[in-house]
Amino acid sequence: MNTVASTRSSTAAVTQAREVERLIAGQATSDGAGVKLTRVLTQPLQRRLDPFLMLDAFGTDNPEDYIGGFPDHPHRGFETVTYMIAGRMRHRDSAGHEGLLQNGGVQWMTAGRGVIHSELPEQEEGRMEGFQLWLNLPAKDKMTAPWYRDIQSGDIPEFTTTEGVKVRVIAGESHGVAGAVQREATQPLYLDLHLPDGARFEQGLPAEHNAFVYVYRGEVQVGETAVPVQRMAILKNQADRDGVVLQAKGETRALLIAGQPLNEPIAQYGPFVMNRQEEIFQAVADFKAGQFAA
Ligand code: MN
Repeated sequence: MNTVASTRSSTAAVTQAREVERLIAGQATSDGAGVKLTRVLTQPLQRRLDPFLMLDAFGTDNPEDYIGGFPDHPHRGFETVTYMIAGRMRHRDSAGHEGLLQNGGVQWMTAGRGVIHSELPEQEEGRMEGFQLWLNLPAKDKMTAPWYRDIQSGDIPEFTTTEGVKVRVIAGESHGVAGAVQREATQPLYLDLHLPDGARFEQGLPAEHNAFVYVYRGEVQVGETAVPVQRMAILKNQADRDGVVLQAKGETRALLIAGQPLNEPIAQYGPFVMNRQEEIFQAVADFKAGQFAA
């Protein structure tokens, strides 16, 4: 439907490319009912990577690592974006939404004033691999009505550059191709890049937007820094830099994520992310009073 099949030029007129500020390995942890994952974007990085609050990477062939899934739990004040590379996960929430997330698909959920949802695997064997990104909402939208969209793999806009880089545009815009989701306040860019060995990819980025690359296959060179597999590279913000250039070493897959910072206070308690501590107390009270359940 939205898929763009045309070939796009590999040059996006990046004149001064950003360099890497630092590499992050993430922390092995478990969440939900014992699901093993790597928390790549952790709480201490929330201010640096505003408007992004969390990035979890999961990838395993062992069902014991994922079979418990994420039974009923609440969220308030932000959006969750789940990108499934391989596997099948069933979503149900208290706003009446239900969907099956599978191979290459994205689930975009706006928790807003509050939902209770479950995310449970619909497979007992085989590979489960993907990512969950948390995107903050501006203060004015934190108590908005919950919203939800399942985007099947075939509905994610895609293009291939002249250098053979396949670009899946989950959010934002790349080389003139609009992504599946747009957000005015945070202008998120979310690209999944599949690069052949040696291929270059350029992406324009506003200098003030916070940006990072996460490599999940192969390796990329970003400026003077080699970014190995399973590493996040935080990109420097400098006024005179207008984008990023990636060059693959071997067959590579990487996420490129960027957004406009909200520059608002962040108060987080587990699955609730608000601006002030009083709002967190209110979220806990509202949840205990059953106000999240439809
Ligand atoms: Mn959740």
